[in-house]
Amino acid sequence: MAFEDPAEESAVDLKSGYPYWAVKNGLMYAFPKLEHDLRCGVVVVGAGITGALIADELASHGHDVVVVDQRDVAWGSTSASTALLQYEIDTHAVDLAQRYDEATALLAYRSCLQAIDAIAEVALSIGDVDFSRCDSLYYASNRADQSRLADEFAWRAGHQLPVQWLGRAALKDVYSLTAPAAILSTVAARVDPYRFASRLLRRLQRRGTQVYDRSEVTSISATARSVQLTTATGASIRAEHAVIASGYESQRWLRQRVARNRSSYAYMSDPIDRAQLAWLANTLLWESARPYLYLRSTGDGRLLVGGEDDDRDMPARRDRRVDRKAATLQRKVERLFPQLDARPAFAWAGTFAETTDGLPLFGRHPQYGPRVLFALAYGGNGITYSMLGAGLLRAQIERRTHPLTRLFAFARLG
Ligand SMILES: Cc1cc2nc3c(=O)[nH]c(=O)nc-3n(C[C@H](O)[C@H](O)[C@H](O)COP(=O)(O)OP(=O)(O)OC[C@H]3O[C@@H](n4cnc5c(N)ncnc54)[C@H](O)[C@@H]3O)c2cc1C
Repeated sequence: MAFEDPAEESAVDLKSGYPYWAVKNGLMYAFPKLEHDLRCGVVVVGAGITGALIADELASHGHDVVVVDQRDVAWGSTSASTALLQYEIDTHAVDLAQRYDEATALLAYRSCLQAIDAIAEVALSIGDVDFSRCDSLYYASNRADQSRLADEFAWRAGHQLPVQWLGRAALKDVYSLTAPAAILSTVAARVDPYRFASRLLRRLQRRGTQVYDRSEVTSISATARSVQLTTATGASIRAEHAVIASGYESQRWLRQRVARNRSSYAYMSDPIDRAQLAWLANTLLWESARPYLYLRSTGDGRLLVGGEDDDRDMPARRDRRVDRKAATLQRKVERLFPQLDARPAFAWAGTFAETTDGLPLFGRHPQYGPRVLFALAYGGNGITYSMLGAGLLRAQIERRTHPLTRLFAFARLG
């Protein structure tokens, strides 16, 4: 099966404004352009956080891996991510159980819970990526949502997931937060996603994995035995397997529309006094309204605020909205925390994609044979999904079964 991008599309703008991570870290490492033909076991197309985690999983288990990206590494949506690492996904467990069944919902939630530990392990092994474990507080935005939250809490507590219920009085006492109720989860984390992916790729390179950037893949051609990719400069890569981890641009390789692209907006404040940040220094916060407001702090005491998602996927229109959206987010934060100086210092927007059930898509697609595997970590928990996808795709390449293969497969889209 051969597929050349019909639109001959090259990189689209995945982000607008000034993503803080890119400003803070700058271009961290230069990797070479791919200017010669090569052969390998697995070629990973995309050097964002998904491609980096998959390459790491494969290379550390003895696979011969090559990574190739059309931009500088991690410069796609990974550099725009707010990187709240949560096991609790955008679709409530109760809703997943209703859509599929109890066992499926539990599998999704338990897997995501384990993924937080797995990310922690990788982050700590790389070091210096502003990783920190946190709590996560999920509050009811209004009274009408309180009973939905109570159902969700009961379900999760009933399945021994690490949650506590906080009523209005406890929220006021402990968190000085005015809301009807909240679920407190004690397993969550935060990271600098751009630094994490960049340092991971650099470590891979040091250990012998070839990483190329500024090299666009323009065609994929697969047979039952191998895959051949070509780049814009005419270099060819022949591999036993290709993993397409090209983020929200992956739709370009699929005739079937598999997700809906949206934009999310975010801003970073200047550093805030620790005493004022109080519990926000080690707790992620989000709410039941959709789209939700979400916030967390960084290691240097800044507040990172996100939300105001919309379905604008047109970079020019999104660019114009960044400042207005940041101002709206700031007003919302100030209503919750009037004592904080939560003014935006850097504001930006980025593309993300959503599937109808909030779960990602990992594995083969019928348009290609078994040698091409997609890694579409779509959803608000994209990074948690990337970690899970790394193990799942390694299992597929090694022809082993994996508990998440069916749940994350394209087949569920019908
Ligand atoms: C504003 C915002 C907030 C978010 N917040 C969170 C959050 O709090 N928690 C969370 O878990 N997730 C969050 N996400 C989602 C998360 O950021 C994404 O899931 C993650 O960054 C996706 O990484 P990726 O590697 O799949 O994609 P990308 O980082 O976009 O990487 C894909 C790479 O593929 C390359 N590529 C594309 N096409 C080609 C080609 N033809 N040839 C070569 N290379 C190609 C691109 O250049 C790019 O570098 C957020 C996203 C946004 C935008």
